[in-house]
This record gives sequence, structure tokens and C-alpha cells, in this order.
Amino acid sequence: MKRKRKTKIIATIGPASSNYETISELFRAGADIFRLNFSHGDHQTHLDNILNIRKLEKNSGRPISILTDLQGPKLRVGSFQNSEGVILKTNSNFVLDLSKEKGSEERVSFPHPELYEHLKIGQNIYINDGHLKLKITENKNNKINTKVISPGKITNNKGVNLPDLKFTLPAITEKDESDIEFALKNNVDWIALSFVQHANDILNLKKRIDGKASVIAKLEKPSALKDLDNIIKVADGIMIARGDLGIEVPLETVPVLQKKIIRNCRRSAKPSIVATQMLESMITSPIPTRAESSDVATAVYDGADAVMLSAETAIGRFPLRTVETMNRIISEVENDAHYSNIIDLNYKKEDINSSDAIVIAAKGISSMASIKAIVTYTTSGSTTYRLAKQRPPSPILSITPSKSVARQSCLVWGVHSVINEEKIPETKIAEESAKIAIREKIAEVDDQLIITAGIPFGTVGSTNSIRLIKINKEYG
Ligand code: ATP
Ligand code: MG
Ligand code: MG
Repeated sequence: MKRKRKTKIIATIGPASSNYETISELFRAGADIFRLNFSHGDHQTHLDNILNIRKLEKNSGRPISILTDLQGPKLRVGSFQNSEGVILKTNSNFVLDLSKEKGSEERVSFPHPELYEHLKIGQNIYINDGHLKLKITENKNNKINTKVISPGKITNNKGVNLPDLKFTLPAITEKDESDIEFALKNNVDWIALSFVQHANDILNLKKRIDGKASVIAKLEKPSALKDLDNIIKVADGIMIARGDLGIEVPLETVPVLQKKIIRNCRRSAKPSIVATQMLESMITSPIPTRAESSDVATAVYDGADAVMLSAETAIGRFPLRTVETMNRIISEVENDAHYSNIIDLNYKKEDINSSDAIVIAAKGISSMASIKAIVTYTTSGSTTYRLAKQRPPSPILSITPSKSVARQSCLVWGVHSVINEEKIPETKIAEESAKIAIREKIAEVDDQLIITAGIPFGTVGSTNSIRLIKINKEYG
């Protein structure tokens, strides 16, 4: 199966989508990567989802990427007696405390004892990506009294933000440790860390992971923005986690930051993800707002590698329709004749080395109509990522012996990955590329392909060859 678009779709799996049928439907509708959020659900449910995704991968014959999201030092409230949660009204009093009792309209558990002494009267508490705002009126005997400023519904385990707090939490919690172990045991492809503050947080996580998965830094803290260049350098990918980011920094700065982060990621050939509230109203409505449709389009015009769905597919009423809608919006933008120019406008060219020169040449040649794809032969993925960074007009057919490289590159703009475990000699590259391109329905006899690779194979990071081939009849 070949997608007709370049920008990838990530769908979060939750109660609304935790079964084989729905996961398959979402995949067919366009989801390239499935996200499992360790902030919610237990290991058994996540394991069932992983097994279903791997089963789907086997049945569909296409690599599929699994992204697990670590909670990190995210603060959350506990659960409520009523599983529907409660509604907090303006000016009412609401208490956060350490009791393990389930919550009510008067109080809820806030199980972070280390924070209580740092919370001060007058500070604001935000809940559920900022939907609710409470102001602290008293803090005594491990009981935080608050007044509701912005009312709304609060349900189990909603996230809490304390932007006024002057206290640094550990980057990787005990829960994260056990989630990392679980994720690695089950061969996930990407591990995302929430609330990254410095490049060091990522380096520590990478040490822990030891190359068994790639790492995504979620940008949602002002301190991370200060260390942005270093974080992009050490992470394998970046998520612009706009939910928490929009509370931690002024809301109006988020669109500008989004463009800047995508631009910087592209320069470093690191995939970027735009996340949160993309089609939020589709949690309950079968059609999105016009503003949401524009938001998805903007991320695509900004040149992001992937756009992400959270609650829409995890707990929403219309997971399938949401992915279909996102797919249509992306395709429409990518068919705009100005699309290519617009994504390049958001990208400042930089110094290039000889490997870049090869892929830039490949992009130039690929604008010829008879060229159906640029084929990259890659063991580490680096030629593929380097080419994707150039955002070429034709598809990138990435051929790799590594299952994990193939799965990981599902996240990368424009890449159609194929696993070829057979060791082929360099002299057979043209023949092999032609056969695979035909099999994957990317090209036909008499079409042309461009092939780039680092030769001899296995020299990581050196793209040194470019070939233009015509597909002969005998490969058809
Ligand atoms: P993050 O900050 O990592 O995005 P989040 O709490 O915002 O965490 P999302 O994955 O963005 O979580 O999902 C949005 C909402 O959907 C959550 O607040 C939660 O209510 C619900 N949700 C998501 N996944 C699950 C799940 N597996 N089980 C129950 N609820 C879920
Ligand atoms: Mg977050
Ligand atoms: Mg979220």
C-alpha cells in the first residue's frame, strides 16, 4: 500500500481505538504511526495494542511505527468517584490534597507530596491543557485550597500545570523507568520524553535506552526552548507538544515557535511533529471547525514531518473520521502548486557537504516528469533522512535491511520504507530498485528512478553515489 501524501499522521491509541479492527481501519485511513501514551492505561492494555499493531504490520506487509510517550515529570490529579468526572463552577472552592480517596466536587487527590511546600497563595493551577484555572487561596497541612477562576469539567488523571512553580522535578521518574523497560522489551520504535528541560535529559535517556529505540524530545517547557539547538542536536526527533507548551509560555508565541522549531529540525534532518488539539472538536463532532482544518494545513505548509491526533483517536467518538479528515486536509495542501515553494520559504539554506550535494542533485533531477521516485539504499537511515530534509517533489523509496530503520522512518516526511533483508551486491542495486518500485506500485516499466546510496554499503553517513535508471521490461 502506498500513501499519496508526504506528511505523516500519528494516531494516539486509547479506549476508543484499542482493538485490532479499529487500529486496522485507522491505518488504512492514513495513520502511519501509532502513539501509546504511558500517562494513561496499564501495561497489559499497551501490550495488547502493541501486539495488534505488529499483527497488522504482518498482515499489511508495510512497516508501522510505534511511538511510546513517557509521562516524565507531568503532574496529574487522581481519579473521581464518578468516572465521568465533575464540573467545577466559577468562584467555587476546590481542594487538592494527598488523600488517596477518590475525588468529588469538593476535592481531588494531587499525589505529588514533594511540591506542597513550594506552592504559594496567589499562584495559578491549570488543569487539562489549561481548560481550567484555579487560584491558590490557602496552603495548610498538605491541603491546597483554591478558587475556581476558569470553570469546566475535570475528569480522571487530567494533567496539571504550575507555570509559577520554582522547583525542578526529576526528568525521568520511577514510573518512566518501568515504562522504558516495558517499551524496550516490546521493541517499540520511538520513545518520547515529556517536559524535557535540557539536552542532558535526552542524553540520560539515550544512555538508558542504549540504541534500542530512537528518542523524541517533547518541547513544552520554557527552559527547553532556551536549550533548543542542543536538544535538536542530541534528540532523534522533536514533538511540539502544544498542549502544555501553550500554558508554560504565552499562547500567542506558540505559532511562531512552531515555525521556528520545524525550521531548525529540518536543518538538522530531525523529524518534527506538531501535536495537540489539531482536530480537537472531532472528539465529539463528526466535522472539525474551520480553524482546526486551517491549523492542520498550517503545520503542513510549515513543513512538519508529522501531525498528531491525541484525544481525537484515543477517547473520541469518531476516530476513523478524524484520521480520514486529516488525510484529506494534508492531501489538499500538498496538491497546492505553491506547496513546495511555501515549505521552502520556512527553511533557511545552510552550508552543505558532499553528501548533501548528492541529495540536492537528486531533488533537482526528480522534477522531471518521468521520474517516479528517488530510491535510497540505507543501513542507518542517514541517506533517507538527509534526502527527506530536502523535501523533494517525488516520493522517497527507502530500502533498508533494518526493520527498525524502516519502522522509524515511517515518521519522516515523504518516505515510503521497504525492508529488504537479503544482502544484495552493489552491482544489483538498479535491478533490485526497479523490482521493488514496481512491486510497491510506485513505478512501471519505462519509468525512471534516481538511486542514491553510500557505497560501499555500510559506511554510515556517507552518501556518495547518484544514478538515473530506466526500468526495463524484464523487471516488469
Ligand atoms: P500529554 O501531555 O502526554 O499529551 P495528555 O493527558 O494530554 O498527555 P493525550 O494522549 O494528549 O494525553 O490525550 C488527550 C486526552 O485523552 C487525555 O487527557 C485523556 O483524558 C485521554 N486519553 C488519552 N489516552 C488515553 C487512554 N489510553 N486512556 C484513557 N484516556 C486517555
Ligand atoms: Mg504534554
Ligand atoms: Mg496531550
